[in-house]
Amino acid sequence: APTLRLDRLLANMGYGSRREMTALAKAGRVILDGTPIRDADQKIALTRDLPLRMTVDGLALDPPPGMVLMLHKPLGVTCSHKETGPLVYDLLPGRWLNRDPILSTIGRLDKETSGLLLLTDDGAFLHRVISPKAHVAKRYHVTLDRPLDGTEAGVFAEGGLMLEGELKPLLPAAMETVSPTEAYLTLTEGRYHQVRRMFAAVGNHVTALHRDRMGGLSLPADLEPGDFRLLDEADIAAIF
Ligand code: URA
Repeated sequence: APTLRLDRLLANMGYGSRREMTALAKAGRVILDGTPIRDADQKIALTRDLPLRMTVDGLALDPPPGMVLMLHKPLGVTCSHKETGPLVYDLLPGRWLNRDPILSTIGRLDKETSGLLLLTDDGAFLHRVISPKAHVAKRYHVTLDRPLDGTEAGVFAEGGLMLEGELKPLLPAAMETVSPTEAYLTLTEGRYHQVRRMFAAVGNHVTALHRDRMGGLSLPADLEPGDFRLLDEADIAAIF
């Protein structure tokens, strides 16, 4: 595992300045494996289990750099660092927003789309998930304004569909009918507003959109809108 000096680690995780972290350690307020680390120069190995071994003022350490989490994105929040109005980042503990490297969403969901959203502070991991080469399939539950006419699954499976204003045809996508006005659509690419525009291209209109799966990772039924959970190695393996 990579290592980082204690003062730098805690400062990067948003606990305070390096000077403050040096003082915190000196005061015996940082404990590793039951022993205070008073020397802020000490190198700390960045393993995922660190929060089980380190406390700051008696509380488990935040997830160290390299964190991946899933959020049940509610409707009405934006996947952006910049916009005004409720952001997905507002749903996370405040200190997590002061981290370096910063936490970012892995891809985006529209403001009016709910469901499984991954976030990470690991740029290499982010690119691995969104890379077209990874072929991570994203499944959406789609609710429609008008009944399906029975031709949509064939049109989407064929591939080659051209979206309004784009030059590159779509890859094949799998559609499964749930009811006359509901379907699952599984995509391996992520164009802007892709699901909404695909149904617009076949003369329908999406009234609700929810992502429930990325690769083999499903949104857990007990993860309520607005709640999040850290991924472990098995969850991460399930994505690919
Ligand atoms: N397709 C859309 O139209 N919106 C999303 O949020 C995701 C996929």
